[in-house]
Amino acid sequence: MTKPKIAFYWCASCGGCEEAVIDLGEDLLAVVELVEVAFWPVALDFKREDVEALADGELAAAFINGAVRTSEQEEMARLLRRKSAAVIAFGSCAMLGGVPGLANLYESRDILDAVYRRAPSVQNSDGTLPAEESHVPEGELTLPAFSASVRTLDQVIDVDYYLPGCPPPTGLITSAVTALVEGKLPEKGAVLAPDVALCSECPRAATKPDKLLVQAFRRPHQALIDPELCLLAQGLVCLGPATRAGCAAACPGANMPCTGCMGPTNNVIDYGAKALSAVASVLDADGEDEITARVAEIADPVGTFYRYSLPASLLHRRVRPKAKEQEEEVAP
Ligand code: SF4
Ligand code: SF4
Repeated sequence: MTKPKIAFYWCASCGGCEEAVIDLGEDLLAVVELVEVAFWPVALDFKREDVEALADGELAAAFINGAVRTSEQEEMARLLRRKSAAVIAFGSCAMLGGVPGLANLYESRDILDAVYRRAPSVQNSDGTLPAEESHVPEGELTLPAFSASVRTLDQVIDVDYYLPGCPPPTGLITSAVTALVEGKLPEKGAVLAPDVALCSECPRAATKPDKLLVQAFRRPHQALIDPELCLLAQGLVCLGPATRAGCAAACPGANMPCTGCMGPTNNVIDYGAKALSAVASVLDADGEDEITARVAEIADPVGTFYRYSLPASLLHRRVRPKAKEQEEEVAP
């Protein structure tokens, strides 16, 4: 019996999702018994031409991790889409934009300027920036284009399934591959994780009061954390009430609040807004001044509530108002 062919690919990611596949450990041997890995450039010596040589739809599935930031990533995503019966957005970055998506708080030219000119360790007296085309004595060099913003995979190509997590938990990966091989994947568009909030699987859930009121928020390093009690009840910004289950509450289990990497449950349009609403609803504050003071205790609100989901949110990116001189430059 021919095995279904699958591919793994990474776009703008840290490599953690690739690591999660390795974390399958001995189960990885069971996976390769079931499928043929036809493309996995981080681990095996495949080239783009190997994918181009496949017939359209020949891959049973492509697991693509990472957000999309460069023209090369977009081209590979489109190529894998064409060659695959199913595309799975693998991990928070592909599904929601992830931590690389926080770059959408800045203009692309500011990012290049910070990285190649202003970083303390950089020596670049000419202020040279990467160029898509460079002419050198040996010939012409090209680099992928750096796009204006970070996009989720489904903002670039049609996506069939989503495997959330930063990185996805190994149990969910194994279940997804098994369902694929057995032809038991749910209907298109499904998130391959339970559609309930994380609190439902948290070992601290029994200590979460029905009516919770928090007087002051603290960061983990500012608190002596009780290892048994609900973290939100201890004044830590735990996003479990707004976050999808499926990770076995790994972070609360390790005495750290949930930061929301599994993303929202179904029917939530904007994860950050949902998380903000969940935290605001337990705030014990009256009047504008008191509410402003309590909210000010939450350091880095965008990084807290939109840590993994800014590109997928209704906001998508921050747009800097044009400087007056730039407006004048384009004025007729
Ligand atoms: S708020 Fe956090 S610590 Fe409390 S029950 Fe939910 S996931 Fe667990
Ligand atoms: S507890 Fe929250 S941040 Fe930690 S793995 Fe689970 S969903 Fe992600």
